[in-house]
Amino acid sequence: MSIDLFEKMQRGDLLTAKEEAEKRKAKEYIEGICKEANICQVQLYIDAEESWIQDPIDNWVDEMMEKYNKSKAIIFNTFQLYRIDKLQYLKDSIELAKTKGYILGAKLVRGAYVEKENKYAKDHQIPSFIHINKQNCDDDYNNSLRLCFENIAHVSICCATHNELSNKLAAELIMKMGIEKGHPHICFSQLYGMGEHISYNLSNAGYTVAKYLPYGPVKDVIPYLIRRAQENTSVEGQTSRELMLIKKEISRRKI
Ligand SMILES: Cc1cc2nc3c(=O)[nH]c(=O)nc-3n(C[C@H](O)[C@H](O)[C@H](O)COP(=O)(O)OP(=O)(O)OC[C@H]3O[C@@H](n4cnc5c(N)ncnc54)[C@H](O)[C@@H]3O)c2cc1C
Repeated sequence: MSIDLFEKMQRGDLLTAKEEAEKRKAKEYIEGICKEANICQVQLYIDAEESWIQDPIDNWVDEMMEKYNKSKAIIFNTFQLYRIDKLQYLKDSIELAKTKGYILGAKLVRGAYVEKENKYAKDHQIPSFIHINKQNCDDDYNNSLRLCFENIAHVSICCATHNELSNKLAAELIMKMGIEKGHPHICFSQLYGMGEHISYNLSNAGYTVAKYLPYGPVKDVIPYLIRRAQENTSVEGQTSRELMLIKKEISRRKI
């Protein structure tokens, strides 16, 4: 489905008959994938995108969660905590899941489009959805972890971050709250080839960790990887920190 159509849906514009047909087809396609995931009993994660197309995505994911997450989470939505409104949205989503009697699937990320979001807001002369600084984003991320663990009976959480402190906090909260490490509602996730020291240590300590492996046609995957690489250069010291750890290990092994 075209991005333009998502934008129109978000604005609540009247759709033409052709657009209605396109929307119906996209919805059927999504329903088909969710149905198949449920038959195979594999979890399906739906990424979060730019703020100007996110609302219709959220609405569809909510609908799918209500349908398939009755006894466990099959469908997951993504919450971008760099957005000022998403901690509240997570609270509302937990309440909605409780009221409607399903398990909320929640992948927690900080968010990948800081520059793009700020530029869009500037160009359209609207306030940006992005926190004014990294600290506020970190606080909301960490508070969202607390919120999910406090509601672990109703939320299946994926802690998707390369931030060492957030991962450490999550591991500590799990222990402090007396939740079992391998609880079926908890998993950690880092990108394949990144944050290996986090993934392997968490896994060795008994937590469930998934590596996120981009898979697809080269023309689609390479731009994705370039975006992730660019993102990492803007992440304060993260890549250099990982490089330093590798160098330290090489010298420890006297290679
Ligand atoms: C498994 C996995 C799945 C992911 N899926 C998605 C997805 O569906 N959608 C998506 O958007 N992203 C997704 N991401 C990317 C993610 O949102 C982050 O961009 C990336 O992980 C870096 O954040 P961090 O928490 O790992 O690390 P950190 O180094 O702690 O944080 C960097 C992040 O902080 C935020 N930030 C930086 N500066 C500021 C500032 N001045 N103000 C406010 N916030 C700031 C940005 O979000 C930046 O990416 C995914 C990441 C992983 C590991």
